[in-house]
Amino acid sequence: MTEINKTAIVTGAGRGIGKGIAEALARAGYRVVVSDINQADSEKVVEELKAIGGTALAIKCDVSKRTEVEQLFDQTVKEFGGLDVLVNNAGIYPFVPFDKMSEEDWDKVMRVNLKSVFLCSQAAAKIMPEGGRIVNISSVASVIGFAGLVHYCASKGGVNAMIRALALELASKKITVNAVAPGAITTPGASQGMNEETMKQTLAQIPLGRMGLPEDIANAVVFLAAEQSSYITGQVLVVDGGWTLR
Ligand code: NAP
Repeated sequence: MTEINKTAIVTGAGRGIGKGIAEALARAGYRVVVSDINQADSEKVVEELKAIGGTALAIKCDVSKRTEVEQLFDQTVKEFGGLDVLVNNAGIYPFVPFDKMSEEDWDKVMRVNLKSVFLCSQAAAKIMPEGGRIVNISSVASVIGFAGLVHYCASKGGVNAMIRALALELASKKITVNAVAPGAITTPGASQGMNEETMKQTLAQIPLGRMGLPEDIANAVVFLAAEQSSYITGQVLVVDGGWTLR
């Protein structure tokens, strides 16, 4: 593994897509801060990354809380000397019919999926004096509707809108801001919301004929984090096997 002397933070990296992103960045030579609300999961991921020759550190953070976000970035600077890449991946997607959706349901999804992008991106931009990359994990739910996920669709639409404004503000600092919008990706979180029937129905709508894997998203993130993508900013890259083409 070639060390490239760059540091990346991945939020929600204890499992699923975030774990896949952390692994891909470690394989690409980044020092990786594996951050999650669930520290035991992060520590397991760190052990796995070290076993493949990576440099990684687990830091607990609930991305919806400013004090925990500040600690995450302070500790990253203390341990690794700075930050080059932030991946805002942590997110939740609890199915709730609209007529049963409480204000608390709405607020929680907005805090974890949207406010977190504000908190983490602001903290990151402060410690990227020589430029950097912010990559957000949005969703196809930002461009198509899903019943039972009104709050989630709104939060991811918010992420897409936010990155365009943020890309403009941070361009003069040489920080690019982009998003990857995954389709149906096999993860522990997604499995909870699907039974065999919904899985079959979803699969039937995906032109490339398979569910996505965390590494499909991770490969796109590694590209947007790399030097080669330095002229791309404010964009949303849909990675969904063609699901939303029709
Ligand atoms: P997942 O399997 O549920 O993993 C998400 C991770 O984030 C979990 O480890 C979870 O911890 C953690 N987390 C939850 N709330 C957090 C918080 N407040 N602060 C920090 N970490 C938190 O989810 P996933 O399917 O990998 O999804 C990852 C991202 O991709 C999300 O932004 C999601 O919206 C997006 N996405 C997923 C799909 C898909 O099909 N899987 C499609 C489109 C977009 P706990 O285990 O303790 O809850």
